[in-house]
Amino acid sequence: MSVKIISRAAWGAKPWDNDPRSDGPAQLAVTRLTEFFVHYDGAHHINATGYAIPRAIEAQHLAQGWAGIGYHFVVDQAGNIYEGRGWGRQGAHCPGHNVSGLGVQIAVGGDQEPSEAALAACRALYDEACRRAGRTLAKKGHRDGIATQCPGDILYAWVRAGMPAKGYTPPAGGAAPSGSTPARYRVTINGLSYGYGAHGDHVTRVGEALVAKGFGDAYKVGPGPKWTDADTEAYAAYQRSLGYTGADADGVPGQTSLRRLLSTLPGKAPAKAAPAFPGRDKFRPGANNRYVTMLGERLVAKGYGKHYRSGPGPRWTEADRKNVADYQRAQGWTGANADGYPGPQTWARLFA
Ligand SMILES: [Zn+2]
Repeated sequence: MSVKIISRAAWGAKPWDNDPRSDGPAQLAVTRLTEFFVHYDGAHHINATGYAIPRAIEAQHLAQGWAGIGYHFVVDQAGNIYEGRGWGRQGAHCPGHNVSGLGVQIAVGGDQEPSEAALAACRALYDEACRRAGRTLAKKGHRDGIATQCPGDILYAWVRAGMPAKGYTPPAGGAAPSGSTPARYRVTINGLSYGYGAHGDHVTRVGEALVAKGFGDAYKVGPGPKWTDADTEAYAAYQRSLGYTGADADGVPGQTSLRRLLSTLPGKAPAKAAPAFPGRDKFRPGANNRYVTMLGERLVAKGYGKHYRSGPGPRWTEADRKNVADYQRAQGWTGANADGYPGPQTWARLFA
């Protein structure tokens, strides 16, 4: 069973100790673990799922003067797993057991029934913890370590029963909580399009910057030039790291966050000015000049080169005239306007 963990960056954790200079809780090798503790949220039912869950716990634990969430992981009723202390740091969840024990909170309270998804996710964490520790960890409830109601009678009975997961397989999803749909609209910033379906090198550049800053969890492939839901999810994680919430963190760029990500605001390359029309006398029988070559190459590039047996080249030929005439007729022009001799209008359109 794979374990998909929503990183602190993805759910928008505040810096450890609410201080960007903080090193956070003590580092601790996962190989020192001997026990696995299950917790619940307390007396009240928890009806929310999603990022609100770890954020609420973080706010509470920061207010207690802790470095951040004291649990190593938090599981919501949808089966999403949020990183708290994670695999490599000391916990703050059960006095006397914070070095030996991994602490996981299942976000239910009181007599609330935990969902199968939540239980399966917790069980998957247990299996992964045993694998990383290199030993079978003792299965415990908080009340096994200290006098407390936690993790409530229902979860405690589940722990005592051996933490059965009943065959449920948690979704191996992306970084967003299951059930949330990435925003699918586009914005134009400085002449370039961003958001679902946008296309171009500037999209690749955003994706690469997100990966470089550690927000690449959502990418299964790429990043590439086509803006996908993965780009939206990665960008949303980045927005949350800036403290944005709600619609401001929907994964569609705004000018401020984009400039901050790239240290600059990309713009559309200015269109190359069309070369000035050199005059009608450059395109007539007997003419031989570089503008004829330029004209011919443009015709070929636009798909109007079928009359060329060779070339195009600098000498004006009937093939040039026929190709120009095809191009002019394709503009809807007739008569003298489609005689195959280019004037300023033909030239301007060809080089537009
Ligand atoms: Zn507890």
